[in-house]
Amino acid sequence: NDNYGHSIGDGVLIRVGVWLRTALPGAFVSRVGGDEFAIIAAVADDAAAAALARKVEATLRGLAEVEGIPIDVVGRVGYALAPVDAESPVDLFRRADLALLATRDTPGRGVQRFHPGLEVNAAELIRQERAIARMLAGGDVGVAYQPVFALADGTAVTIEALVRWPDTPGEALSTSRLVALAEAGGRVAQLREQVMLQAIRDIAALPQPIELAINISAIEMQDPHFVDDILGHLATAGFPPRRLHLEITESAIHHNLGQTALQMARLRAAGVRLAVDDFGSGYSSLANLGRLPVDRLKLDRSLLSFEAGSRASVVLAGAVVIGRGLGLEIVAEGVEAAPQLRELRRLEVDAAQGFLLATPVPAAGIAAAITQGRERFAALLSASAIPR
Ligand code: C2E
Ligand code: CA
Ligand code: CA
Repeated sequence: NDNYGHSIGDGVLIRVGVWLRTALPGAFVSRVGGDEFAIIAAVADDAAAAALARKVEATLRGLAEVEGIPIDVVGRVGYALAPVDAESPVDLFRRADLALLATRDTPGRGVQRFHPGLEVNAAELIRQERAIARMLAGGDVGVAYQPVFALADGTAVTIEALVRWPDTPGEALSTSRLVALAEAGGRVAQLREQVMLQAIRDIAALPQPIELAINISAIEMQDPHFVDDILGHLATAGFPPRRLHLEITESAIHHNLGQTALQMARLRAAGVRLAVDDFGSGYSSLANLGRLPVDRLKLDRSLLSFEAGSRASVVLAGAVVIGRGLGLEIVAEGVEAAPQLRELRRLEVDAAQGFLLATPVPAAGIAAAITQGRERFAALLSASAIPR
C-alpha cells in the first residue's frame, strides 16, 4: 500500500487468497482483516498440523504480479489445535493469533504453535506497555551516551544517545524491548522527543562542542509532522542543526523509500546530518543508497566479524569502498578488539565506536568516557598493535 497504492495492495491480497485456496483444497480459508488470513482445517495429529502450517508458510512465499508489478510476498503462521490448545472457537482463534504475534519476536521464525507461555506473555505485555506509558508521562526516560572516535587521532567526534529504562525500582526493560513496545504502542514520537531534549541538555553542558546522534525509528518516517517536530525542538533548545545526526536504519529507509527520501531531504536542507545505521545488516539496497541524501554510513558490527585476509574482510573492504565512492563519512560500530581497529585504520575508515574504546555511560560519565577512549586509542597505537 505504501509503495504502490491500495489497488496494488488489494491485488496482492486477492492473489494470496487464490494461492491459499488452491494449495489447501480441503480447508476453509478466509481473510479476517488487514493482511491476516484465517484457515480452519481438520488434521489427524500434531505432526499433520505442523506439516500443514509449514505448507501454508511455503505457499505464502512467492512473487505476486499485480498490474505488471512483481511484489515479493512472505507470510508468517501462528496456529492452535482443538481440543488440546483450546476448546471454544473464540479461544482457539485468539490463541492462534497469540502464536502469530510471537513469530514477530523471532526473526526468521515463520511458524509458531500456541503454547501456554504465550498467554502469560500477553499479560506481561500489557504490564510493560503501562510501565512505558507511565515513564513517558512522568518524563523520566533514561539516556546513555556512547562516543564515536576519529580513527585519525582518537578524538571524540560524536556522542550517540541510547535510550535506557530509568534507574527506578520495579520493571526493567532492555533497550530493544523498550523501543519495540514504544513502536507497537504508537509512542515513538513521545520517546524520541524526550530522548532528544534530554540529550541536547546533557550535551550542551559539556565543556567542548560535540555532535549529537540520536536514533530514529522506522515508523517515525511516516509521521507527517516528523520534520517540523525535529526542527521545532532544535529551534526551541537553541541547538544548531549541524550538530545533530539522525541515525536511520537501512531497513527503515528501504521500507518506504519515497516518503523517507522526502523527509530526509527536508531535514538535510535545514542542516541536520543523516546517517544510515546498521549498514550491511540486512535489507541493503545499494541502488537506494546512491539516491539517498545521507552524510554518514554506520557499518553494522556484523561486518567486523572477520579474520584478516578472510572472505568476510573482503566484504568489509567493499562496504568501505561503496561508502567512500558515495562521498560518505564512514563509521564502524561494535568495535571490540584491537585487530578490528587495526583493519579499520588500514581501510581508512573515518571513525569507530565500540566497547574497545568506550561503552555507553550516563550523562555524568561522558567527559571521562571521551578521555578514556582517547587514552586507550593512544595506548593501542603506541603498543604498536596498530600501524601508522
Ligand atoms: P544501534 O543504534 O545500532 O546502537 C548500538 C548498540 O550497540 C547499542 O545497544 C550499544 O550499547 C551497542 N554497542 C555499542 N558498542 C558495542 C560493542 O562494541 N559491542 C557490542 N556487542 N555492542 C555494542 P543498545 O543501547 O541496547 O541499543 C540497541 C538498539 O536500540 C540501537 O541500536 C537502536 O537501534 C535502538 N535504540 C537505542 N536508543 C534508541 C532511541 O532513543 N530511539 C530509537 N528509536 N531507537 C533506539
Ligand atoms: Ca544507532
Ligand atoms: Ca547500529
